[in-house]
Amino acid sequence: MVCAGERWCTTQDMRAGGDDDRHRAGSSPPPRSDDTVVELAGVSKRYRQGDSDVVALDAVDLHVRRGEVVGVVGRSGSGKSTLLHVAGGLDRPDSGRVVVGGVDLAGCSLRMLARVRRRHIGFVFQFFQLVPGLTVRENVSLPLSLDGRADPARVDRILDQVGLRAQARRLPSELSGGQVQRVAVARALAAGPDVVLADEPTGNLDSATAATVLDLLADQVRSAGTALVIVTHDPAAVARADRVLIVRDGRLHAASDTPPGREGIPAGTL
Ligand code: ADP
Ligand code: MG
Repeated sequence: MVCAGERWCTTQDMRAGGDDDRHRAGSSPPPRSDDTVVELAGVSKRYRQGDSDVVALDAVDLHVRRGEVVGVVGRSGSGKSTLLHVAGGLDRPDSGRVVVGGVDLAGCSLRMLARVRRRHIGFVFQFFQLVPGLTVRENVSLPLSLDGRADPARVDRILDQVGLRAQARRLPSELSGGQVQRVAVARALAAGPDVVLADEPTGNLDSATAATVLDLLADQVRSAGTALVIVTHDPAAVARADRVLIVRDGRLHAASDTPPGREGIPAGTL
């Protein structure tokens, strides 16, 4: 589907219009299947910095399929966060197509973008980004409540799964870093998204806590059949991925083309 203001039509309709030339030999992604939960095709994004433009994403193609875990590595400034922001409808590309849960984000109003995010995407950030004035339960409930689908029993179940039922009435400031990130994982999964986009989710945790959070995140997405795209420098996270992609100067490469120990792929993980 594509949303243009409040009007919705299908991706099929757009293809029938002949505007889709992604499948040219050489640069094309694999054909879209019904299993695709996120699709980026020819996505580019520049930022203005002073007098010059920085290319953050350069003609990126990406297909994420239902239930797969995709690791994303790369040096600082290579475009990893921009990739997640654009894939998650938090930022708009300058060109190219982004389709999430069957919805083409081009032309979506801000309200529609928010709706697509609530229904299809969960986010986990390095610095947690919980709402400080809300309790653990309220933070986890938020995506469902905002979508008009409040479901206290589901929230209880998820709090049990992340081991935080006893802390449900606490504020984020009353929790440890690992507990806060577990709340963020619970929040990301609360609305039953197609995909969780995680940007260095263990980057601000000590290694023992990071391992716990990573186990939890991986177990939860695997058991829910949710896809996970995880930007990480953590060898344990890379090792858990079904496939690993490298971002280099805004372009995506398969990690299998690059020796471990380079480009941010931790040695010994591939
Ligand atoms: P990474 O997450 O891999 O460290 P980013 O996606 O954050 O990389 O950034 C990619 C490039 O885009 C960097 O050169 C960064 O400085 C630039 N960039 C990212 N966001 C902005 C912004 N909002 N304004 C200007 N430049 C930006
Ligand atoms: Mg980043």
